[in-house]
Amino acid sequence: MTPALLESFPAFNPEVRLQPPPLERWRRGTGTDVEFVHVLDSGRPGPVAMVVALVHGNELCGAIALDRLLARSLRPLRGRLVLAFANVEACGRFNPLAPFASRCVDEDMNRLWDEAVLRGPRDSVELRRARELVPFVDAADVLLDLHSMQEPGAPALTICGMTDKSVPLARALGQPETLLVDTGHAAGLRMIDRGGFADPTSPRQAVLVECGAHWEPASAAMATDVTLRLLRHLEMVDDAWVEASPRLPTPARQRLVRVGEGVTAASPDFRFLLPTHHLKVIPAAGTPLAEDGARRWVTPHGDCVLIMPSRRAGVAGQTMVRLGRYEA
Ligand SMILES: [Zn+2]
Repeated sequence: MTPALLESFPAFNPEVRLQPPPLERWRRGTGTDVEFVHVLDSGRPGPVAMVVALVHGNELCGAIALDRLLARSLRPLRGRLVLAFANVEACGRFNPLAPFASRCVDEDMNRLWDEAVLRGPRDSVELRRARELVPFVDAADVLLDLHSMQEPGAPALTICGMTDKSVPLARALGQPETLLVDTGHAAGLRMIDRGGFADPTSPRQAVLVECGAHWEPASAAMATDVTLRLLRHLEMVDDAWVEASPRLPTPARQRLVRVGEGVTAASPDFRFLLPTHHLKVIPAAGTPLAEDGARRWVTPHGDCVLIMPSRRAGVAGQTMVRLGRYEA
């Protein structure tokens, strides 16, 4: 790595053990002119389901899962299944020596899904792609958005959105173990929070699964398993089809974490005051958690759960960790 690259990436050096699958073969869409989108229509009544990979270009697990499905020439038994590789342009720049650099080209694709942003005058690589994908997103009854996380060894979790309405879907999948209901992101709307997905009166459901750590084979196994579970749940494939794939054991139970406030950096001086890891539980309320100049954060309640603490240097306005609690 050149000195310039060393400066722009965190000091920890995760082993990159996944590679992007050969996506070029999926460039030409199925049932659509939009590249890297495959609409698999059973020709029979049923739900419209969409599974999305690569909203973040360096989160390879979902792309590996969709590549496997497409390579098996999946044909749903009912309804319509849309498989989409989102930020292929960013993924095309994936470099194992600088694996964080290909998260996006211009901006975070998972903060663009508000109508005012999508229909607004701004332009970026991610906005252009989001504008191509949004008709598919808006037509989906059920959405599964596959992601992964920074922290090595991070256990997978499902973000059910800002309401409880998609929790039953996450529970029906039975995987992964931890479910989150959160408050979204101030920086912009996620795909799972768009339109009917966030409307408690709409039957549409969306979940985002953080399948594990970026670039660890376990995250690709989780992405594949969760996708198969969704297809089985929707009766788009049968048991024999599912059993023909490598599977993960079902966790004994799923636990829901209700996420409250986020801790947002004000400057590069931001630092945690204790060792952090994803899903760490801090027993006592009032435990010093982080500081940034004169600002100090303590845990707001007992049994405080840390959600995806950032390992990167603070940038003003960046969420460094979110705080939650397990629901009884
Ligand atoms: Zn992501």
